[in-house]
Amino acid sequence: MKRIFPAYTYGPGPREGCWWDETTTAPDWPVHSGDLSTDVAIVGGGFTGLSAALHLAERGVSVAVFEAETPGWGASGRNGGFCCQGGSKLGSATLERRYGVSAAQDYAQAETDAVGLVADLLQRFRIDADVHSEGETQLAHSPRAMERLRRRAESGGVLHEPSDLERLGMGGRFFGGYTDPVGFGLNPQKYLFGLARAAQAQGAAVFSKSPVQGIRKAGSGYKMTTPTGRIQAKTVLICTNGYSSDDLPDWLAARYMPTQSTVMVTRPLTEAELQAQGWTSRQMAYDTRNLLHYFRLMPDNRFLFGMRGGLMSSPRAEAAIRRKVRRDFDRMFPGWAEVEATHMWSGMVCLTRDLLPFVGEVPGHPGLFAGLAYHGNGVAMGSYCGRALARLVLGEPANIPDVIAKPPSKFPFGRWRRLLMPPAYAAMALADL
Ligand SMILES: Cc1cc2nc3c(=O)[nH]c(=O)nc-3n(C[C@H](O)[C@H](O)[C@H](O)COP(=O)(O)OP(=O)(O)OC[C@H]3O[C@@H](n4cnc5c(N)ncnc54)[C@H](O)[C@@H]3O)c2cc1C
Repeated sequence: MKRIFPAYTYGPGPREGCWWDETTTAPDWPVHSGDLSTDVAIVGGGFTGLSAALHLAERGVSVAVFEAETPGWGASGRNGGFCCQGGSKLGSATLERRYGVSAAQDYAQAETDAVGLVADLLQRFRIDADVHSEGETQLAHSPRAMERLRRRAESGGVLHEPSDLERLGMGGRFFGGYTDPVGFGLNPQKYLFGLARAAQAQGAAVFSKSPVQGIRKAGSGYKMTTPTGRIQAKTVLICTNGYSSDDLPDWLAARYMPTQSTVMVTRPLTEAELQAQGWTSRQMAYDTRNLLHYFRLMPDNRFLFGMRGGLMSSPRAEAAIRRKVRRDFDRMFPGWAEVEATHMWSGMVCLTRDLLPFVGEVPGHPGLFAGLAYHGNGVAMGSYCGRALARLVLGEPANIPDVIAKPPSKFPFGRWRRLLMPPAYAAMALADL
């Protein structure tokens, strides 16, 4: 595989300390071996791949998911659990300017529908994923940012003046806030395992420890190989997001940018500690910075806090970013400076040059599809794009907004494209001052 981060990134190191692993037991998944023929083969067992598998299996299509590690091992089993609108890094004004009002509205509707899809899946398949929060709240990190929230509230949502925050139990260094009523928090691994079980119950095959090493066109379909098996499929779906490889397929080379995100979770906070910080709200929240922080008080009173990860990836870089996460947490929630962070981990998200997700057929490769690049917001949008892939395969209307049906353009610098990130982060940090 031609991946652009060092091997450490794709190993167990960054994932060590993931809280969700202690909250659920992974089902047993077989390793693929021998020859297998299936209508649809899916590479990657995260939200995108498993949602596609479930929606295909429900319609009686023979489908098999091949996951290099274990389902949920990638970002889907180690994220912050914000099931919210998002997926693109472009604001609605930029979307309107670039693509027109109607295209921007279609995309906004898809973001809302994506959250609705997850709520529906949780209910339909009776997945208990520790859901909480009514929508999500954005908190202003500066008076100037609060002015932006005021303008945003003119078109809907609820504005919170600085004096409201104490009453709302959102104590911290914030200058007001804004609540969007769409979205909720969940335990992502419980959702993921529920999705996998539902897909299997509908007849999908799910394999772990089965990395796809090669995909090649064969007749009207594709042949793929894993270390211990061969697969023949009419259709292949690439659902590898931040763990993608530049040669699976070659078309992907330089069309995605993996970047890291890091999360910490505290021990359960006591009532006195919650009062001391003035944060008692169950609302999931994030701040207005470009390099944003996201946080929520979970049902068991542990506090989850996440932010962008490091630019480098190695044991040393991982230790450094974990220290930085702790520093930012202490600065934003000084009342909890003495509270132990029992869990911390990192993982890969995925961007495109156009700052939009992509879902659709790979140009020039009939029967080969991909869905990826949710810009750190893939709980809902990954599930949505998985369903869209299923609908494309079934030949049904997929209602994919035009802006995410457009194949992503290439980043400059090819396999060295990570060089673009330090100046990009520096510019964002400057804008956050
Ligand atoms: C720390 C962190 C916090 C986040 N917080 C949030 C959040 O709060 N809310 C939100 O909406 N989003 C969040 N995200 C982003 C979200 O988790 C992702 O957008 C989403 O999980 C992507 O799902 P996916 O199925 O496309 O990819 P992934 O879940 O990353 O799955 C891809 C899978 O492909 C597998 N794979 C790769 N290559 C191969 C191969 N050759 N053969 C077989 N398998 C292969 C990988 O092992 C991996 O498991 C966060 C991400 C991280 C890392």
